[in-house]
Amino acid sequence: MKNLRRTKILATLGPATDAPGVLEGMFDAGLDIVRLNFSHGDGETQVQRANAVRDISAQTGRHVGILVDLQGPKIRIERFKDNKVILEEGQSFSLDINLDGNAGDETQVGISYEPLAQDVNPGDRLLLDDGRVVMDVVNVVNMRVNCTVIVGGDLSNNKGINLQGGGLSAAALTDKDKADILTAAKIDADYVAVSFPRTAGDIHEARMLLNRAGSSAGIVAKIERAEALDVIDEIIIASDAIMVARGDLGVEIGDANLPPVQKDLIKRARALDKVAITATQMMESMITNPIPTRAEVFDVANAVVDGTDVIMLSAETAAGKYPVKAIEAMDRVCLETEKQPNVRLSNHRVESQFERSDEAIAMSAMYLANHGNCKAIVSLTCTGSTPLWMSRISSGIPIFAFTHDPKTASKVTLYRGVFPFLFEDNAPDQETRYQAIFDIMKNRHQVSDDDNIIITHGDFHRVEGGTNTLQIVKVR
Ligand code: PGA
Ligand code: MN
Repeated sequence: MKNLRRTKILATLGPATDAPGVLEGMFDAGLDIVRLNFSHGDGETQVQRANAVRDISAQTGRHVGILVDLQGPKIRIERFKDNKVILEEGQSFSLDINLDGNAGDETQVGISYEPLAQDVNPGDRLLLDDGRVVMDVVNVVNMRVNCTVIVGGDLSNNKGINLQGGGLSAAALTDKDKADILTAAKIDADYVAVSFPRTAGDIHEARMLLNRAGSSAGIVAKIERAEALDVIDEIIIASDAIMVARGDLGVEIGDANLPPVQKDLIKRARALDKVAITATQMMESMITNPIPTRAEVFDVANAVVDGTDVIMLSAETAAGKYPVKAIEAMDRVCLETEKQPNVRLSNHRVESQFERSDEAIAMSAMYLANHGNCKAIVSLTCTGSTPLWMSRISSGIPIFAFTHDPKTASKVTLYRGVFPFLFEDNAPDQETRYQAIFDIMKNRHQVSDDDNIIITHGDFHRVEGGTNTLQIVKVR
């Protein structure tokens, strides 16, 4: 039987993946869902990338989801004349709101965030490019923030700026984000990620704008501000998924606080029936090297042990030299980690009461998955909620979401252990329907004759929330 990877791989698209054949290679390597990062590139390029993903999905029959990541109120430097400069420790460097966006050099660069000059004071520490470059504010003169470089290094176009300790004021959804939400609706994104939310209200606002634009995309709350941790349950409940956005979060709360916070956030998301994505620098060295460091191998494995649904690649795929190899490396590390018994078993929700019969069916299926001798679960589903519940419980057997709805097939690409299958169910009776399911599963080498599998479904087709039946059937 083919061993399926349960943990999902989310890869950011960018210039490196636009090269001919690369995206196809990423599909082959096991890509589950892509991120279109609206912090970089223009809308038209992103639309083309979305179309390319849909085209290859259609050609290969593999459902790869699309996540649009909004820029949010991230403060960024603008661009350099030569795209990049090298800063030396001790030198002066200025951030200037009035400087032309493309006119940066070794002494200064433009910024697009007007309030910066008011938000900072002499002595404040600014962290650029996820903290790789550090500078202290000396003074602010005419909207020009003059600094001394404390840690130098390469600084390239559009890198982010954080204020140590957090506290830069800005609403989560900028005018650009609101325009990009319309693009997300246009390309029928499966998920939209809100950057730097501070409250559940930010998520509600994004959902309202998406709905108004005719989109039913799921919402990912990127947890990357210290303030968000204080109201984390509200934010998780308002969202469909959270991203442990370790880049910005680590700058705000300090790197040493990240590991326990990552574990907590993943646990909390799962407990609240939501999805968790672990992001940033997971395979960072693969931007330039064909193999990961040992530390990166452990980081991916540890995120899997923590229970993450998804692991994310950023520059490794968007701008790296080895986008396909980065996915292959994640794939092999996940597969091996997922063999560990502690990753395959679950502490059941012994203390929770089920509110709906479809939830009760989903939980019963997982009890069987962990204690029976079944080889797979097939869930006939409209919206994907039954497989979502199932996938909140760890187990060692795959969950196949059989659905007539391509949107549902794309949505479950984010759920750990859930594999989409587009299923036009025209069977006149259950016997024929089950035989069709067996045939598909056998063709995909998931089961053999006489294996037991679990099937869940409702009485009526295409009725949301109707799952009320669980059967153990022998494949024939
Ligand atoms: P970004 O978000 O890649 O959009 O910055 C992730 C993070 O901050 O870790
Ligand atoms: Mn971020």
